[in-house]
Amino acid sequence: AVDGGDSGINAFLHVSAEEALATAAEVDAIRTAGGEEAQALHPLAGVPIAIKDLIVTKGQPTTAGSKMLEGWMSPYDATVIEKIRAAKLPILGKTNLDEFAMGSSTEHSAYGPTRNPWDTSRIPGGSGGGSAAAVAAFEAPLALGTDTGGSIRQPGAVTGTVGTKPTYGSVSRYGAIAMASSLDQIGPVTRTVEDAALLHELIAGHDPKDSTSLPDPVPPFSAALSQDVAGLRVGVIKQLQGEGYQQGVLDRFQEALEKLRAAGAEIVEVDCPSFDSALDAYYLIMPSEASSNLARYDGVRYGNRVLPQEGPITIERVMGATRAAGFGDEVKRRIMLGTYALSAGYYDAYYGSAQKVRTLIQRDFDAAFEKADVLISPTSPVVAFPLGEKLDDPLAMYLNDVATIPANLAGIPGISVPGGLSDGLPVGIQFLAPAREDARVYHAAGALE
Ligand code: GLN
Repeated sequence: AVDGGDSGINAFLHVSAEEALATAAEVDAIRTAGGEEAQALHPLAGVPIAIKDLIVTKGQPTTAGSKMLEGWMSPYDATVIEKIRAAKLPILGKTNLDEFAMGSSTEHSAYGPTRNPWDTSRIPGGSGGGSAAAVAAFEAPLALGTDTGGSIRQPGAVTGTVGTKPTYGSVSRYGAIAMASSLDQIGPVTRTVEDAALLHELIAGHDPKDSTSLPDPVPPFSAALSQDVAGLRVGVIKQLQGEGYQQGVLDRFQEALEKLRAAGAEIVEVDCPSFDSALDAYYLIMPSEASSNLARYDGVRYGNRVLPQEGPITIERVMGATRAAGFGDEVKRRIMLGTYALSAGYYDAYYGSAQKVRTLIQRDFDAAFEKADVLISPTSPVVAFPLGEKLDDPLAMYLNDVATIPANLAGIPGISVPGGLSDGLPVGIQFLAPAREDARVYHAAGALE
């Protein structure tokens, strides 16, 4: 952890002040000189940005919040980082996260938890709690996160910031350390919907280095903001409210619906019965893919290597000692779950069934989007909870993601926007749209600002 003078919030794992100042000075000089070069500057040029430490950066360490990668320096930049450098956004540093993005509270970081700026005895959400806390605490106006099951949107909700999970494939994953490749997506963390739209435009686009990258050109998301929501059909997802949701969250949700109705939106109810199994499917698919992705930390190619205390030094034993020492408990739990689910004889019972549920969820979304242009739900069933409260109870921790996970399983875009406070703590409202219709989530979210 870096004492960046952030009153113990611990949002940053690395601060790159010199690099950021140099970029800012460069933008300043271009603006002062004026002329064509100044005209050509990106609208976000000179606006500082913090980067979740799961995204690789040349010249700055990347840890993924793990001891496994302590001190590791990437030899290359992620595609999103190349775009950010080209647009001259000063990079402030790397933000804290749950180890390898596994968690909902940032307490699973090997470098200590991040605290919620609204109440430092509480969690900032996760896995991208560092990015959300940095933006919420006014340490950075912009940040990048990654969202596999909600890690941009849920921290956004509990810190009162805006977070978008783009359509799967619309933002390159090249250089995002893989957790679950079929679910992972990089996206913006900001204070306003407009900033999120602008940052999303900057980082999106086809990338030949990512085989799942969509060929579509980037539509102007920020243009969607100026439209009003009269006539917009907003679908309330029956399954994502009620039991398990705090009353204060449900109250703010009802107020959001009132606000949309008053602005002329048409509120309809949609039924997505398979969402009741979304969490189960996610916690089979995600660990399965993660167990495979994390096999690369073998003590040979990346990061740390730990030699066995005694006995012969064989590759298997070095691998075992390295992984035993390098991974934290949550990562080990998921590797074991995933390895088990994928093992011979269990495929049909676990991974295969989970994939079928995934298809049902996609069909539920397809049917819902026939009745509604966008869908709405609370982002998180609960407000920020006290540090330590769910640390020893993985299932309680996993339940934080009930409302965010379906979007990842279906590859569709989602946004979380602030929806007021409950007992002084932020509540987030989530909008979802069909794949490639990211503009719609900005359109709808703008109505709640
Ligand atoms: N909290 C979820 C999990 O632990 C989501 C993580 C993420 O989106 N990276 O898997």
